[in-house]
Amino acid sequence: MLGLYVHVPFCSAICNYCNFNRGLFDGDLKNGYVEAVVTEIARAAEPQAADTIYFGGGTPSLLEPEEIARIVEACESGFDVSPDREVTMEANPESVSEARLAAFRRAGVNRLSIGVQSFRGDELRRLSRLHTVDRARAAVAEARAAGFDNLSLDLMMWLPEQSVSEWLQSVDAAIALAPEHLSLYMLEVYPNAPLKDEMARARWSQAPDDDAAAMYVEAMERLEAAGLEQYEISNVARPGRRSRHNLKYWTDGDWLGFGPGAHSTRGGVRWKNTSSTEEYVDRVSCGASLAVDVHRLTPDQRLGDALFTALRLVDGIDGNAIQTRYGIDVWRRYGADLEPFIEVGCLRRDGARLSLTRQGMLLAHEVMSVFV
Ligand code: SF4
Repeated sequence: MLGLYVHVPFCSAICNYCNFNRGLFDGDLKNGYVEAVVTEIARAAEPQAADTIYFGGGTPSLLEPEEIARIVEACESGFDVSPDREVTMEANPESVSEARLAAFRRAGVNRLSIGVQSFRGDELRRLSRLHTVDRARAAVAEARAAGFDNLSLDLMMWLPEQSVSEWLQSVDAAIALAPEHLSLYMLEVYPNAPLKDEMARARWSQAPDDDAAAMYVEAMERLEAAGLEQYEISNVARPGRRSRHNLKYWTDGDWLGFGPGAHSTRGGVRWKNTSSTEEYVDRVSCGASLAVDVHRLTPDQRLGDALFTALRLVDGIDGNAIQTRYGIDVWRRYGADLEPFIEVGCLRRDGARLSLTRQGMLLAHEVMSVFV
């Protein structure tokens, strides 16, 4: 079934490390955006089953609940959205309250992903986040009070000046809140991110690589001990609570993206919408094409992408499924290049299945490069 992704490109402030497609909230532009995205979805309508809707951003929780409801309704009118759909909304702690969250639930959202990032005030300030630790905890409590029983938290590790034990404090604080799902990301300091200059000015540094590896491995061990099973390089979940939408990205699925800069993948064709929100609204209003960067993947590229993304999953690559779908024996084609990774303990081969070990996940890009 299709996944439907809706990109909401507005934020209350721009974080110093952010590399996403977003801009500062502007009420008039937001109104134009909502009209445009509803129109874009209506134009894409087809009698095709979809089972996930994902509001990502930016900060989707800056939209009003009625606006989220309109967009969900547009998805329901345009596609055959299954009754047991997963509808996720990313939210930042400072933009929610119990009343707003209850209204988002009534609008159809049944899974919330809260951008906590850290449970330490000093780390949140270094990242220029708008919320405090208390606000993050309050947002989780408000989500529960509003009836959300499927909650994910985002945390970031390898932050400037962060030690392994400080990172693990955040992991323990997250576990104490008993979310159904957690996503853990390593901070990547982009060359043109304001954070890079701030780090140089304040003489902040990131811990050595060995500490970064320890952060990752120890966090995963603690989370698993707490009943949150790792299923992907960066994601853990309680049984039955894996992100159905994100799994489409890693299991060779199809999805349609709506909104500025949204990516789509359908039947081996990939494309991206124009990134600028103003241009997106203008193009929708005059019926112009939104797609830029259209790529029709060759069969080899499709295979490479399917293998590359499957390796992100703890279950790894199912060689039998690849044989059925692509007519390729993975081991026969790539075995010679993969063998060294098995020898050093990064990769595991179990029958037709190939998967990264936890140590291998730290070197995932090197193993994946075999396929692309
Ligand atoms: S809230 Fe998220 S999308 Fe918005 S600026 Fe911060 S990191 Fe970027």
